[in-house]
Amino acid sequence: MFDLLIKSALLAEKNQYVDVAVRDGKIVEISEDIQSPAKYVIQAKGKVLYPSFANMHTHISMSLLRGLGADLPLMDWLQKVIWVLEGEFVSPEFVRDGALIGIAEAIRSGTTLFMDMYFFEESIAEVAQKAGIRAGLGFGILDFPTRVAKTQEEYLKRAREFIRDFKGQELIFPTLCPHAVYTCSPDTLRKTLQLALEEEVYIHIHVAETQQEVDASLEKFGKRPVEHLYSLGLLTDKTLMAHVVWTTEEEREMIKEKGAKVLHCPESNLKLASGIAPISDYIRRGIHVCLGTDGPASNDNLDMLEELSLMAKLQKGANLDAKAMDARTALRIASEEGFRAVGIKAGRVEVGYDADLILLDPNKPHLQPLYDPIAQLVYSAKSSDIDTVICKGKVLMEKGELKTIDQEEVLFVANKWKEKIQGFLKSKILF
Ligand SMILES: [Zn+2]
Repeated sequence: MFDLLIKSALLAEKNQYVDVAVRDGKIVEISEDIQSPAKYVIQAKGKVLYPSFANMHTHISMSLLRGLGADLPLMDWLQKVIWVLEGEFVSPEFVRDGALIGIAEAIRSGTTLFMDMYFFEESIAEVAQKAGIRAGLGFGILDFPTRVAKTQEEYLKRAREFIRDFKGQELIFPTLCPHAVYTCSPDTLRKTLQLALEEEVYIHIHVAETQQEVDASLEKFGKRPVEHLYSLGLLTDKTLMAHVVWTTEEEREMIKEKGAKVLHCPESNLKLASGIAPISDYIRRGIHVCLGTDGPASNDNLDMLEELSLMAKLQKGANLDAKAMDARTALRIASEEGFRAVGIKAGRVEVGYDADLILLDPNKPHLQPLYDPIAQLVYSAKSSDIDTVICKGKVLMEKGELKTIDQEEVLFVANKWKEKIQGFLKSKILF
């Protein structure tokens, strides 16, 4: 008896029809016709089967701030809009409601793992667990007081408690998130590293996002951000670095040597005018690259399909080389490379891999005729074509309908916060 059986799906990788059987969250059989019974059967005739996506860098609860400060560069956007609003509103309730909106969006667009950095991550864990999505969660650690903590000691204490509370769970795992080199002193970074080593958790940090960050780091520490982290011992194979747009040859070799991972966020980097990360060069050097959307307030969505399409096209355009990134590589980065970066065996439709899968409905004019299901996923599909989403064998969406989240509730909380935040903005004449 299988837990789940997917019948007659077009396996994108091979462009052939298969049945896929799942037991205990894993793919246990793929063949042309599986007759054994299953507790749940999905008739997938006419649908295309792909691995699901791993969104490796986000601040999911910022969905509540989506669209605000739309055309500002990073520092203005952070200092004049985001940090002001977060100072006023961030609470466990804000974080929980924002996560509900963000997780609903993530599932709808085919994501089954997200790596998050924010405040009150327990509230995100609560929503993620209920929704049945995987999440690597960590408290943002900063050198200035926020609603979560006032001092370095308090931040680290909070982070340690969070790790102890959420270690060893099935879908959720704790991480440590020092925000960046421009918001964490060398002492804070060293102590965070110490804690990461003691607790054996990943470090998730923003690195070399803008030229301005590089200049400030050179001025303050005499080192560029990656060099600075290297000298502090923070580059390890359990270090996940978001952005990494501005690096020298030497820094790229440091990343390669230490096995740190790059979490590429092309759309956020474009929208905040941060630049284009040299991703094809990183891949050529053997650096482990994954993909993320960044927070839904700097993108302004959590759509991994849009992100992977943009990533491939940007590398082609920036390098004046159509082969700088092909569709299969783009899909692998958006899926398998993300899962693999945090030790999860998923992201391939193969026996022995976890059943983190999507079914796409190609019976629409913009996807016909369907010759190459992978190229057409990357260059023609929209996330609204995703019909079914499965995370570790559990069906989170089927035929476009969320199974674990009430979409009416999502719209209700969005409206509730819109009224609160708009009222505040009017009173402060921020906009
Ligand atoms: Zn970020």
